[in-house]
Amino acid sequence: MSRAVVALGANLGDRGSTLRAAAEAIAALPGVRPVASSREVESVAVTLDGPDTSKPRYRNAVVVVDTELEPQELLDALHGIEDDHGRTRQERWGDRTLDLDLVAYDDRSIDTATLTVPHPRAGERAFVLAPWLDADPDAVLPGAGPVADLLAAVGDDTERVDEPRLFGEPTCSSRPTTAPDGRTGAAS
Ligand code: AMP
Repeated sequence: MSRAVVALGANLGDRGSTLRAAAEAIAALPGVRPVASSREVESVAVTLDGPDTSKPRYRNAVVVVDTELEPQELLDALHGIEDDHGRTRQERWGDRTLDLDLVAYDDRSIDTATLTVPHPRAGERAFVLAPWLDADPDAVLPGAGPVADLLAAVGDDTERVDEPRLFGEPTCSSRPTTAPDGRTGAAS
């Protein structure tokens, strides 16, 4: 079983519903088990020429899964989910109803014609780092360092959307914690 991190993005259509449906579809893939998910963030569209405020804004989120699928199998399955949401691959970095990126797969380093992992631009994108940190406060981008440090370095220009996490699990801060006096309880 391996652990994979998937970034979701949408800037066309009903973005929130699309992200939720995509997260459900990822969790329902054979050989995939949901582990954690972020809330959504919103950010300005980034094109090949840089940030473009004239484009529809993006909603982004991150899900963490355990999987028996090999990395390329998982990417193929993610492309299937993109296609189910009417994604057409025309303009690189163009508007899209759904974009799914494989950000990390264990601490493996992969570079083939169709798949580069860790995703080469993940460490410089607040719209990936911020939701990833929200899903997993201890996240580490293999080869680059703690996601919290990377996000502090790039600056968080995303806006949190006040919606539940994509998988509907409790927030991380409600995980059991050990109090200084040794008692176990839920953090507020
Ligand atoms: P995009 O248009 O941004 O979705 O780019 C999709 C293309 O990037 C596909 O042809 C993928 O094979 C390729 N690709 C390479 N590495 C990754 C990755 N880690 N996650 C998603 N797509 C990838």
